[in-house]
Amino acid sequence: MILLKSEQEIDKMRISAQLVSKTLAEVAKHIKPGVATGYLDRVAEEYIVKNDGRPAFKGYGHPGNQFPASLCISVNEEVVHGIPGSYELKNGDIVSIDCGIEKDGYFGDSAYTFIVGEISDTNRKLLDTTMKALYLGIEQAVHGNSIGDMSYAIQNYSESQGFGVVRDLVGHGLGKNLHEDPSVPNFGKKGRGERLRSGMTLAVEPMINTGTHRVKTLKDGWTIVTADMKPSAHYEHDIVVREGSAEILSTFAYIEEITNIAIDNNFLNG
Ligand code: MG
Ligand code: MG
Repeated sequence: MILLKSEQEIDKMRISAQLVSKTLAEVAKHIKPGVATGYLDRVAEEYIVKNDGRPAFKGYGHPGNQFPASLCISVNEEVVHGIPGSYELKNGDIVSIDCGIEKDGYFGDSAYTFIVGEISDTNRKLLDTTMKALYLGIEQAVHGNSIGDMSYAIQNYSESQGFGVVRDLVGHGLGKNLHEDPSVPNFGKKGRGERLRSGMTLAVEPMINTGTHRVKTLKDGWTIVTADMKPSAHYEHDIVVREGSAEILSTFAYIEEITNIAIDNNFLNG
């Protein structure tokens, strides 16, 4: 069942999404070669709690297999759901950091793939493509369109650049729960799937692979890696479907203030 949100609820979701965005920027300050991913997780958790949020990923899952950390940190061939720990970032890594927060009963959920030092041209193209695919998907998230319009836009662009689009994991509705209906696949056909309506709140999150779209789960029960062990990227925004154009509740602006990477969003304005 898809829950449409009132403006009051959206106001609360905006606060949660903004706290996620600021948490990712706080983490960005510490990303450099030699830093352990477990340290980044502690930075995030401290910041979230200090700002009256609850890390939504910590304890997520079924009894006996609950996610143990506040962030998902996925390096290189890891796609999503990587567990922070003793791994130390090294020059050339790309590191996807996903953060979920519940505050005042509403959830925010956003992810960004960071670079560590100097990265390869292929990785640069992978990141640029994934970022642009995210915004192309969001561009379709308007009242009257369908989920399939978003899915197609993401898949068509990503594959046109020669990359693989992960199918086993998808975007989702969110609000009072971290995961709500509908699913938001990053692959699909125009006009198919759920009709989009004003007040639908979605987490849009393309996961794009250098090589094959296929993925597998590691023995830790969480970490998803590419089947060919080639690098993968992941960006995620929370949005509200509206008439004319979607509203983006999360932002990468705080991160970019830290990393000084100018993202070209001009295509959003045509
Ligand atoms: Mg996420
Ligand atoms: Mg998500």
